[in-house]
Amino acid sequence: MPGNRVKNLLIWSMENLLAFSCPGCGKTTENNGLCRECRQKIHPIEPPHCPGCGGKSDGIFAECSQCLEAGTRPWDDAYAAFDYNGTIREMIVQLKFQHRPENGIMLAQMAAGNAGEFLMKYDLIVPVPLHFLRQMKRGYNQSEIISRELSAITGIPYRNLLRRSKYTAPQSRQNRQRRLKTLKNTFSLPQKNIEYVNSKHILLLDDVFTTGATLNAAACALQTGNPASIGVFTIARRGVM
Ligand SMILES: [Zn+2]
Ligand SMILES: [Zn+2]
Repeated sequence: MPGNRVKNLLIWSMENLLAFSCPGCGKTTENNGLCRECRQKIHPIEPPHCPGCGGKSDGIFAECSQCLEAGTRPWDDAYAAFDYNGTIREMIVQLKFQHRPENGIMLAQMAAGNAGEFLMKYDLIVPVPLHFLRQMKRGYNQSEIISRELSAITGIPYRNLLRRSKYTAPQSRQNRQRRLKTLKNTFSLPQKNIEYVNSKHILLLDDVFTTGATLNAAACALQTGNPASIGVFTIARRGVM
């Protein structure tokens, strides 16, 4: 009977509309969020945060051992919300390589949770740009998605101020010295954008802090605009061997 078929179709589509998949593991969940198992595999970084990388400061110094070794960073403070592992790592990988832009929104909401005090020191959020070829391929800049959501939550405006001029190969396997060298002059602050940076507290945003080489190059470009201070915010701190 046609009436029954319509009814069945209705039930079928209702069931499918109401089924969500967990952004961490892909399993079906009843609500639009992480499943219980994935929620347990999230590791927020407890304060105090290392001002060099935003990770946990581990010793008697404010800076962690890796940052002490890296030397002066071209920023004043840093904050990373989570360790790069478990669910957070999975969500970031999907965000970057499996076309899940919605993960960026959720990650920003999760990261903002404990970061209020840190974030409120800043006037403007500036995402680290992708090279336009990579952005075309991915369809979006993940750091911009995170910045936009963070801006909506905090009321701090965000603006794409930096230009990325050089195309650099994926760098996760290169060491810090090599990364710094390849990234030199990769970013620039166009003349017309200097007014937004001058005497302002700028929050530079990227998805993951690994060696800090990308952020280093981006912060150096921001420095040409004479900001009052620069802070670095990332969703996750990834330890390097
Ligand atoms: Zn899950
Ligand atoms: Zn550090």
